[in-house]
Amino acid sequence: MSSSVVNRKKKDCCGCNACMEICPRCCITMIADAKGFHYPKVDTTACVDCGACKKVCPFEEENIKLNIPLTAYAAWNKDREEYLASSSGGAAHVFSSYIIRQGGVVYGCTSEGMHIRHIRVDSLSNLFKLQGSKYVQSDVRGLFSQVKADLKSGKPVLFVGTPCQVAGLKNYIKWIPEHLYLVDLICHGVPSQQMLNEHIHHILKTSAEQLSFRKGQLFRIEITSRCGTVYSSEPYGDTYFRAFLDGISYRKSCYHCPFARKERVSDVTIGDFWGLQDAASLPLEISEGISVLLPSSEKGKSLIAAAKSDMWIYERSVEEAVEGNTQLYRPVHNGLSARLLSMLYPYFPFDKAVRIVIVKDLILESLKNILRSFKPVLMPIINVIRR
Ligand SMILES: Cc1cc2nc3c(=O)[nH]c(=O)nc-3n(C[C@H](O)[C@H](O)[C@H](O)COP(=O)(O)OP(=O)(O)OC[C@H]3O[C@@H](n4cnc5c(N)ncnc54)[C@H](O)[C@@H]3O)c2cc1C
Repeated sequence: MSSSVVNRKKKDCCGCNACMEICPRCCITMIADAKGFHYPKVDTTACVDCGACKKVCPFEEENIKLNIPLTAYAAWNKDREEYLASSSGGAAHVFSSYIIRQGGVVYGCTSEGMHIRHIRVDSLSNLFKLQGSKYVQSDVRGLFSQVKADLKSGKPVLFVGTPCQVAGLKNYIKWIPEHLYLVDLICHGVPSQQMLNEHIHHILKTSAEQLSFRKGQLFRIEITSRCGTVYSSEPYGDTYFRAFLDGISYRKSCYHCPFARKERVSDVTIGDFWGLQDAASLPLEISEGISVLLPSSEKGKSLIAAAKSDMWIYERSVEEAVEGNTQLYRPVHNGLSARLLSMLYPYFPFDKAVRIVIVKDLILESLKNILRSFKPVLMPIINVIRR
């Protein structure tokens, strides 16, 4: 039995790249499958079966080390402009600004044109590049070694990413120094860059430069070029966004995510405070979004304390945060629609495949409605048959 990641099932690989980055023989390449998700391919002729790749894999049970959140906070950025440019309460931006002001660097996700990838930011003026959720799997290739180099130089480093990316980085770094801050997002899953590319190609005839999925609580896909907005749609009018929100276009591993639970992998978890109970008691227009902060280490708590002067923060219970956010207790269900889309795409172009699934859903919904309207007539007949 091989001790490498060879022949790993797709549901057991999140595509974090840690195995490729750690391989001492450089014999792992990440290859895209037909749906555009990257998986490791091991050159078995060069592999010496050292097991390094398996030791860093976030999906190996023995590598999963999680902590229960110490508390929960509802929080949002005091700076109105920064707050409105963020996806939720703008907590990621506040943490990032703090680290840069300490002379540190931040690793986070940006959209470079339509390419969604992680970058290193070392100046406050470039932090805007990381603001906003990009609902696509971010490309982190080549980044973990850069993080390691920054840590060696003694700079404070903040990495913001999905839980599996944070887990991959943690395993890659091995020892976690005091000046490495890890922040993970509550995440319900990621579609591939290829799906996004196909979708954009399908809806646009012109080149695009900027992509945005959301400003605060306003979910809206917006694509802009140098001449202004070239495409804008509410989520359910857009096949890509609809498939994302319905949870049918994700990487296989997202449906089996070991990090979709209360116990967390990072110093601080951030997300939307969906389940906030008495929001009216907080001094804010709730329609604009509130972040939930879940510190799971003392370092996480100290990061929140350090950024406190830039955020409105209210302590809440962990239970309240967990109850309102499904991804804090289970992964997205791999339902019929997700499995159907997975079968249809890539035999059909992405948009067409999603539309077929939507039509199937509409037909099923109509059938259910018809059956419901006939219920008063049907029930007596069914009861007679039952007897
Ligand atoms: C794919 C995805 C799924 C999500 N699902 C949920 C969910 O189910 N429930 C929930 O409560 N919250 C979810 N979130 C998190 C939520 O959308 C916000 O990103 C989060 O609340 C942070 O908001 P903010 O205002 O603090 O961040 P901002 O200040 O807007 O900054 C966003 C931060 O997220 C990082 N980021 C953006 N896109 C990605 C990406 N594709 N991969 C890795 N890092 C990224 C950036 O580096 C940046 O630091 C999801 C986010 C993503 C990217």
